Amino acid sequence: MKNYKHLFFDLDHTLWDFDKNTSEAMEEIYKIFNFSKWSFFTFSDLMKIFYEVNNFLWDKFNNGLIDGLELRNNRFIMILKKLGVNENEIPKGIGEKYLEVAPAKHYVIPFTYEILDYLKPNYQLHILSNGFEDVQHRKLEASKIHHYFNTIVTSDSSGHRKPHKGIFEFAMKEAGATRDNTIMIGDNLETDIMGAQNASIDQIYFNPNRILHNSKVTFEVHSLQQLMNIL
Ligand SMILES: [Mg+2]
Repeated sequence: MKNYKHLFFDLDHTLWDFDKNTSEAMEEIYKIFNFSKWSFFTFSDLMKIFYEVNNFLWDKFNNGLIDGLELRNNRFIMILKKLGVNENEIPKGIGEKYLEVAPAKHYVIPFTYEILDYLKPNYQLHILSNGFEDVQHRKLEASKIHHYFNTIVTSDSSGHRKPHKGIFEFAMKEAGATRDNTIMIGDNLETDIMGAQNASIDQIYFNPNRILHNSKVTFEVHSLQQLMNIL
């Protein structure tokens, strides 16, 4: 095994509990904008379509087909139209409100604090995320993990998105790391794992749902706690 010095963590779904935080934020959005007046869909319909549209748009964003502004502006219009709301009935400001409420949520994936405390004395920790710069900083602060990280690189600050090797090369330069002393830890086989492979960096696939796959990863864990067996 290599002598790792620099650990690059993905943020959403790896440390910051995206599902729990999003669901709480969406409950607030549902109330603030009085979505219950549209009796033809339930909160659970809303969540289902939210994930469908959000994943669709993030896929497009990660592949460079749309920019961040398009993603932010169109998300809720697409979601509500899909649920059967007329476009002219969609209130203004839902996208902005969501971006105010969601990144202020603090839930993290189990063992986040324990593993960061365990790793911090022996490694330099970094964030490597495709998210937006302002939003990711607010999530790190809300969940009280900002101070663990030496550098924070996002698609905004690097000009590239995972799985493009450019963002990994930019992040290593920022961190003063080399491909031989770096390992990427993330939950997404395409952006995190394939991306790191594109940049010839070792990878730890965080796979809490034990998704079946054929990727050849350096290591795989099902809980953050298992990182202690590797690092
Ligand atoms: Mg992720």
